[in-house]
Amino acid sequence: MNLFKWARTKSPWIIHFNTGGCNGCDIELTAALTPRFDLERFGILLEGSPRHADVLVVTGPVTLQVKDRLVRIYEQMPEPKHVIATGTCAISGAPFKECYNVHGGIDIVLPVDAYVPGCPPKPEAIIDGISKLIQKIKKE
Ligand code: SF4
Repeated sequence: MNLFKWARTKSPWIIHFNTGGCNGCDIELTAALTPRFDLERFGILLEGSPRHADVLVVTGPVTLQVKDRLVRIYEQMPEPKHVIATGTCAISGAPFKECYNVHGGIDIVLPVDAYVPGCPPKPEAIIDGISKLIQKIKKE
């Protein structure tokens, strides 16, 4: 394992983007970052800028309004980059699926590396999804 890969697996920086969900998933992700669940013990840090982030954590479905912004944020991230779809909305668009302004899940517009099911997923499930992504990066 080279130095860059070692650094990426030991301390992936994440950026969170809500594409238009109900905020339930955001609350659970925020809970995962608090000292109670302590996502930082894996070296995971929440970043404000896509230019500094390795992993894009998306909550909510892809809406007509946000689609271009989501793609732009992804394009601003440096390579190699990864995407986690968090919650049922981000996975498939449900329960907003087939609304007039909803395209569907995140994988319609971005390559998704990990899916965290649930409505909303518990903090433990989010931590599990991120640690599985880290295992995947190690194997790449
Ligand atoms: S998956 Fe559930 S909790 Fe999460 S944004 Fe969608 S409706 Fe809200």
